[in-house]
Amino acid sequence: MPFFDFSDYVLEHSEKAMEKAGKAFDVIEETGAYNQQKVLKAFIDNAVTEADFSVTTGYGYGDRGREKLDRIYADVFGAQSALVRHSFTCGTHTLTVMLFGLLRPGDTMLCVTGTPYDTIHGVIGINGEKKGSLADFGVKYAQVNLDKNGRPDIEAIEKALEMKPKMVYIQRSRGYSLRPSLSVREIGEIADLVHSKCDAIVAVDNCYGEFTEKSEPTQAGADIMAGSLIKNPGGGIARTGGYIAGREDLVELCSFRATAPGLGKEVGCTLGENRNMYMGIFSSPNVVTQALKTAVFSAALFENFGFKATPSCNEPRHDIIQALCLETPERLCEFCKGIQAGSPVDSFVTPEPWDMPGYDSKVIMAAGAFISGASIELSADAPLREPYAVWMQGGITFETGKTAVMLAAENLFKAGLLK
Ligand SMILES: *Cc1c(COP(=O)(O)O)cnc(C)c1O
Repeated sequence: MPFFDFSDYVLEHSEKAMEKAGKAFDVIEETGAYNQQKVLKAFIDNAVTEADFSVTTGYGYGDRGREKLDRIYADVFGAQSALVRHSFTCGTHTLTVMLFGLLRPGDTMLCVTGTPYDTIHGVIGINGEKKGSLADFGVKYAQVNLDKNGRPDIEAIEKALEMKPKMVYIQRSRGYSLRPSLSVREIGEIADLVHSKCDAIVAVDNCYGEFTEKSEPTQAGADIMAGSLIKNPGGGIARTGGYIAGREDLVELCSFRATAPGLGKEVGCTLGENRNMYMGIFSSPNVVTQALKTAVFSAALFENFGFKATPSCNEPRHDIIQALCLETPERLCEFCKGIQAGSPVDSFVTPEPWDMPGYDSKVIMAAGAFISGASIELSADAPLREPYAVWMQGGITFETGKTAVMLAAENLFKAGLLK
């Protein structure tokens, strides 16, 4: 194709990568087709109609579109109830509402998947900073680390349950670490163990996991889960927001925290955001398919170049994140510049490493998205420190995601940085 000036070297390796990725693509597409039908069925069962997209203001009492969207999320995720709101400002906020909605002073939150995602540290208060955190409210925190293979340590979890936690917290995605993501089956095994030993609530950080498998944690025994709408379930269309889904009684408690006790889900005008949120979840299984294929292609391509990809091209996936160990800061920078140059928005911008708050090293980021910060759109982040890996995710169409990855490879090739 005449639009980009790729070297024969990159073109040949890309072709080989496509062959290598074929099997993984088949699995991803089959899962996507299944989930796409599941979502369509939920739209039909709930009789979605034009009036559901109308604008409400003020209190938003009786917003039928809002109520129906909650129902659709609950149906799609096999949950009793859901709370889907554009007024959740991000994933961290949504998870915070879930945690504060369910935990009370004196309770223990037990995280069984090692150190949680960075932004949750401040919410729990594990970084020593107490201000407004769960710790500030007298909620205790305990953690079971992952085993040496990065897997949940079942024996240690069983032992830790003796402390009778109020909540067992599971993070499905690898986040920005090199540990494997958890499958829904693994989450289910932990949930079964917990429920057989105590009456703790099993709560899941489901960010980046939605629609990567045929079922969700709430269908495997998790009591409640939460995620961000500028990731998978927003389908690259929802402009902001988050969701909480799970047991009816628990979602109600979260709704009391999200708005006010007694008001809960009954208030919250939608200001015209419903259409985007409906279209977002409707497209999400297909968009997740595109993102997963982009990730698999990049793994195959960079494995062909001799780099380590986590997960590898043919490993089963339970989130949309792809880590590529490029081994040097120069490669990380050239890679991110290539991704940026291949983005539909801000392609002309050159990303530079910067001292991002909360990081102990410089970080370089590529993001050229229609929705600011949306990581269901193609984006890449690389802290300039060991293990010199870039974390990449998203891509709302495979063809454009693939092109951006090829541009990143071309950048490395031109700079003489490929092995
Ligand atoms: C994205 C993410 C969050 C929340 O992050 P926000 O940037 O606030 O949306 C929490 N946990 C995991 C695993 C995530 O990937």
